[in-house]
Amino acid sequence: MNELDSEIIAGILTKRGLSETTDETLADLLIFNTCSIRDLAERKVMGKLGKLGRQKKRDRIIGVTGCMANAKKEAIFQKLPHVDFILGTNNIHDLNCLLDEVILTGAQSIRTDEEFTQELDYIAAKRQDKSKAYVSIIRGCDKYCTYCVVPYTRGPEVSRTPQSILEECRELVAQGYKEISLLGQNVNSYGKDKPEWKYLFHDLLYEIDKIEGLNRVRFLTSHPVDISRELMGAIRDLPSLCEQVHFPLQAGSNRILKKMHRLYTKEEYFEKVALLKELVPDVALGTDIIVGFPTETDEEFEETYEAMRQVRYATSFLYTYSPRKGTPAMRWVDDIPESIKAERHQRLLDLHREISSELMAEKLGQEVEVLVEKRSKDGNYLRGLTRCWRHVLFEGADSCIGSIQTVKLTGYSHQTWMGQMGKASIETL
Ligand code: SF4
Repeated sequence: MNELDSEIIAGILTKRGLSETTDETLADLLIFNTCSIRDLAERKVMGKLGKLGRQKKRDRIIGVTGCMANAKKEAIFQKLPHVDFILGTNNIHDLNCLLDEVILTGAQSIRTDEEFTQELDYIAAKRQDKSKAYVSIIRGCDKYCTYCVVPYTRGPEVSRTPQSILEECRELVAQGYKEISLLGQNVNSYGKDKPEWKYLFHDLLYEIDKIEGLNRVRFLTSHPVDISRELMGAIRDLPSLCEQVHFPLQAGSNRILKKMHRLYTKEEYFEKVALLKELVPDVALGTDIIVGFPTETDEEFEETYEAMRQVRYATSFLYTYSPRKGTPAMRWVDDIPESIKAERHQRLLDLHREISSELMAEKLGQEVEVLVEKRSKDGNYLRGLTRCWRHVLFEGADSCIGSIQTVKLTGYSHQTWMGQMGKASIETL
């Protein structure tokens, strides 16, 4: 979501007549589009901003946008008086006004609304990628997991109208985009904030699938509670919808899940995973897991470990718990020693590597559909993305970049497959 917001900000500034520089010292305007999900991300930005303050040029404008802007508000000005403006996640549309204010008055300016109320010019976004694009469908979150700042930094859920989403998707396909990732803090609750629409996430997917020329659709991220039978049916039935679902477990113990306010039990989660695997046997599952949540016992961690072994996730984002200011979990003592958190994290990481290698080995010899993205860093291979969200390296000509090819999987290393472009693909080039 932050990446897309950065692309929209870049689009607004380009329309204003500004051009981008990769040399920070030449910039007249520097914007830090921040993330608050982890303490480390915030500390990095504060450190970088502090350093810039010591070297600030008089005529350079510095702005802070993103979740940190909403979480810290004026406190940023107090700590970093050289920051000129603060623009919250729900105020991107105010960027031009705010810049005018700063330029005309020289005074510090701030806008941080609690709720997203105004549509953005998504089509003007300056996208980094030429074949894959993000499309925002819902902003904010109503789930209030006890460890998470998002409901406080991005506000309540606000679904974007289907018409506007479909219009943007059609425009992207007309521009040559092959893959669209539908974005939201919880895409599965799309439409639930607008009961009068009688239009939910799976309804949107069925309509997007009808867009001619659109090869692939993905979505991120999901909350297990809102992963419905209808959605699973859509993944099974719609040709464009990739067989890949981020299904964040967070913890394998019912007591910890309750303390996290995740709204499902381990058993309910397993039931949904089993149904999805039955309907879409080839589905690649991903997860987020937090270890060392306050009061997590060794036995409760073992339940998470076992859950991971049972589900066999293809991708895992594993975190050690860190308290975030403003969240309900802050009222509990962060009582799990860092050394134990690190040990639990390492055990999950090792298990994930083992499972991921097994899953990759199982696919060797198969032909898969690959969206060719670019040349590998060493220049020797083409790099592409499978429908199940894995990278593949293979030999081929630059003319393949941006196209979809069939590649036979011949080997793998860590999280990346090696492959050979199919004969049919080469012949059609
Ligand atoms: S569902 Fe996701 S974004 Fe929403 S509060 Fe929970 S972890 Fe945060």
